Amino acid sequence: MTNPRFTVYAPGRVNLIGDHTDYAGGLALPCAIDLGVTIAGIHQPGRVELQTDALEGNVVLDLGTKHDVASIEPRWGRYVAAVAQEVRPSQGFIGSIESTLPTGAGLSSSAALEIALALAMEFNGSQMELALLAQRSELAAVGVPCGLLDQLSIVFGRAGHAMVIDFADNSIEHVAFPEDLDVVVLHSGQERQLADSHYAERRASCELAADRIGPLPKATIADTNTLDGDTRRRARHVVSECERVRQSAVALRENDPTTVGQLMTQSHASLRDDFQVSTPVLDELVDRLNITPGVYGARLTGAGFGGCVVALSDRGAISDPNALSGRGWIVHPTDGARRKTI
Ligand code: ADP
Ligand code: MG
Repeated sequence: MTNPRFTVYAPGRVNLIGDHTDYAGGLALPCAIDLGVTIAGIHQPGRVELQTDALEGNVVLDLGTKHDVASIEPRWGRYVAAVAQEVRPSQGFIGSIESTLPTGAGLSSSAALEIALALAMEFNGSQMELALLAQRSELAAVGVPCGLLDQLSIVFGRAGHAMVIDFADNSIEHVAFPEDLDVVVLHSGQERQLADSHYAERRASCELAADRIGPLPKATIADTNTLDGDTRRRARHVVSECERVRQSAVALRENDPTTVGQLMTQSHASLRDDFQVSTPVLDELVDRLNITPGVYGARLTGAGFGGCVVALSDRGAISDPNALSGRGWIVHPTDGARRKTI
């Protein structure tokens, strides 16, 4: 847009290990990445007017009116309305969204959009409040009872670092990411449908398991053996995944990519067999990466049911990620969301 008065930027995130653990109060090891959502705009009273390069349609939102968020079209306007309901901005803006982040790919374009929108609406609370606001907006916009993984990764990202998040208390510890390693992300080409993808059902299974055996991040595999069927499998994933995150954090600090890679590949098997959120395409990409020289391990990343896989490799081992899956990236850990006033 010509002469914007402000720009805001929110990165996406990739989760190196620790999926479907956030809403169970467990652990994850993500980083913010150098693909993201930019909103440029000019302030105006009373209305938010937006267009996006990612999807069809324009959004015009009258800030003085109460909206039925779930019925707004185009669908991406629901995020705009949900964030506006949270922020209650004193002025609107006219602007455009530009994104380098694929949508529906498990790299968290929805949370990046929510956080960029909140910054564009001049939210001025704390970083933690920003993350919590975006989480509530996701629920209001599309009915997904998501955990805080995406929002915390995007808000608290730090260049050159991954972060260990403990969702028991939302504490974050940054871990320097070794410079001689690459994070490779490959798109399966399958757009992930989180709301339709039994996410809520998986979450309910974890809650049922926790009612029986206590908080899953503190439980043992022996505890999960007292459960039955699917509940047992879901709990076994969360319990073992939290342990893999703990071990990965130690190994990353010790610059031991072999161990991190093995844990990533074990994580994929657990997500595939116990949590049952993989797809044949994701499995095939993981297998392909694991036989590529210089790759330490690979797994699906994000909620599953399509989206992306992530791999850890020696720097430069994969020179053309597009050649492996049609669409891929070497991503770098970056700083979190930010506002730039012009
Ligand atoms: P993910 O967060 O993994 O990318 P989601 O299904 O949670 O996938 O969110 C994708 C949705 O977020 C899109 O369908 C769209 O509604 C919204 N969205 C994301 N990025 C943009 C963008 N740049 N412009 C408009 N809407 C976007
Ligand atoms: Mg999302």
